[in-house]
Amino acid sequence: MYKSKLLQLLLLLFLFPVSAQLMSVNEESLLNNTILINYISLAKSLNQDIDGLMSKVIKWRHYFHQYPELGNREFRTSKRIEQILTDLGLEVQTEIAYTGLTAYIRGEHPGPLIALRADIDGLPVTEMTNLPYASTEKTTYQGNEVGVMHACGHDGHTAMLLGAAKILSLNNDFDGTVYFIFQPAEEGGGGGLEMCRDGLMHRWGILVCM
Ligand SMILES: [Zn+2]
Repeated sequence: MYKSKLLQLLLLLFLFPVSAQLMSVNEESLLNNTILINYISLAKSLNQDIDGLMSKVIKWRHYFHQYPELGNREFRTSKRIEQILTDLGLEVQTEIAYTGLTAYIRGEHPGPLIALRADIDGLPVTEMTNLPYASTEKTTYQGNEVGVMHACGHDGHTAMLLGAAKILSLNNDFDGTVYFIFQPAEEGGGGGLEMCRDGLMHRWGILVCM
């Protein structure tokens, strides 16, 4: 079912939540978009797996939300990501640009190398939401004591990428190899550049990163 569908599947995993939102806004015009319809039919065929996965992704998201860390200090976050990827049976490369990680899944068939990336750092913002998983973390930033919060959605990005890793680890009947990149210090810390300087793209011959 997944053969030759790698790109579509990856796009689906990242774009379907967005496309579903758009559908409620302008369903008719989007239904004329055949590419989007492909995503939707693919989503239906994967629904069973995705439904089972959703509660895990939400749980992971809540964990990362509750324990945010600033750029280049994502030690706890990095450990948790490593643990989840290891539990999926993946080989994990750690400490890339200090706290970055990568892992990969080879499909059963030869094909392109594609990388999916999430950022993992939080912001020096004090959370005032009263959510059960609200952050109460504090740290020192530019000489001041500040709260720390995932106020930019990196908790969601990280959990979604772990979800993609999980679903692809269960369904590797696809063409090619997928790399999962967990990038530290996106918020002005230059973590992406540091990972590239650390040889990230060249080391594995990654041509495209989404
Ligand atoms: Zn951000």
